[in-house]
Amino acid sequence: MGELLRDEGSEHIYMDYAATTPVDASVWAAMEPWLRAHFGNPSSPYKTARQARAAVDEARGQVADLIGAAPSEVYFTSGGTEAANLALFGRAHADGQKGKQIVASAVEHQAVMQSASFLGEHGWNAVTVPVDGDGVIDMDAWREALGRDTAVAALMYANNEIGTVQPVRAAAAIAKERGVPVFVDGVQAVGLLPVRVDELGCDLFALSAHKFYGPKGIGVLYVRTGTAMTPHIHGGGQERGLRAGTENVAGIVGLAAALASAEAVREAEAARLSLLRDRLWEGIRSRVPDASLNGHETERLPDNVNVSFPGVDGESLLLNLDREGLAASSGSACTSGSLRASHVLTSIGLSEKDARSSLRLSVGKQTTEADVDRAVHIVATAVERLRERAKLAEQFAPVKR
Ligand code: PLP
Repeated sequence: MGELLRDEGSEHIYMDYAATTPVDASVWAAMEPWLRAHFGNPSSPYKTARQARAAVDEARGQVADLIGAAPSEVYFTSGGTEAANLALFGRAHADGQKGKQIVASAVEHQAVMQSASFLGEHGWNAVTVPVDGDGVIDMDAWREALGRDTAVAALMYANNEIGTVQPVRAAAAIAKERGVPVFVDGVQAVGLLPVRVDELGCDLFALSAHKFYGPKGIGVLYVRTGTAMTPHIHGGGQERGLRAGTENVAGIVGLAAALASAEAVREAEAARLSLLRDRLWEGIRSRVPDASLNGHETERLPDNVNVSFPGVDGESLLLNLDREGLAASSGSACTSGSLRASHVLTSIGLSEKDARSSLRLSVGKQTTEADVDRAVHIVATAVERLRERAKLAEQFAPVKR
């Protein structure tokens, strides 16, 4: 993995790699010619365009190799959200699937949750499968939900908020017995967990480059050969008619380069990150003894710490951390701005109040032990300060008559 491009002299500690990652310098170097010297439209007939077409084809082949698919099974999209939408809507509208059942776990990303609930409001039967207190799917409920009437069943590989890794192989095997296509949202897993689609047993798989040191706005939907799909973006017939629109050539090249880099260092990097993750959690726990870890203790992403601090408002905590130079997230970055408690945290049994007192820290390429120790200090100090302030506010609150 090459050097990363980042702000010179930035004092900020970035612990929000689950939200997005900086672009690797080698990825940028691979992309740049396709924005400037070779800017042709891959569908045009002349030389520079043919070069762009060749670059897209080569990238498709590289991605296919890296995830264990055939090039014809790789469809480029504008990212993870579009890939998830295409998986659900593409299956829901495929021949003979109209009005059937759409199954999804209770902790899916909003890209899946909102697509499923939209379909639920428009004639499909949207079924949600619950998870346990660690965020792991209830396999009996999954088994019961899947039937001949299921157009697609979605189970994410690893959760973006609490980091819990799902037993996707077992879930996909059950789906296969019932002839149900399975969509696995692998957006958070790439670069951290193995992503060979045959080993996972899935029929549809999503990934998004900006989560693994590639550019934003480019992703992939893998579609297993023989899985009937209907396009939901119509136009010039690109991506074999399933996803129209002029190809994002530089993005596609960048995605392939980023995936190759991420896979090359995945095991070593996952091992390094899991030590940092554990150091972070241990540090927080020793400074704030009533903090509790959300998500599975061991079956979790190597980069994720999600923690609740009883009585502390998560949004105020984030603002405090930002002031002290630590970038983190409360719940999921994709839902930040909304005041509703995270559906993931409430699905694992947290009260709305506890869900709102949670913080997600995620480590990555540039994180060092010194960053972790500094982050522990910043978080613990901010929690103490907010609790102190809350105590004072209570003491001096006007007496209610
Ligand atoms: N799925 C998961 C699990 C995610 O974490 C995200 C982004 O946070 C997405 C889907 C959406 O991906 P994108 O940001 O590429 O639209």
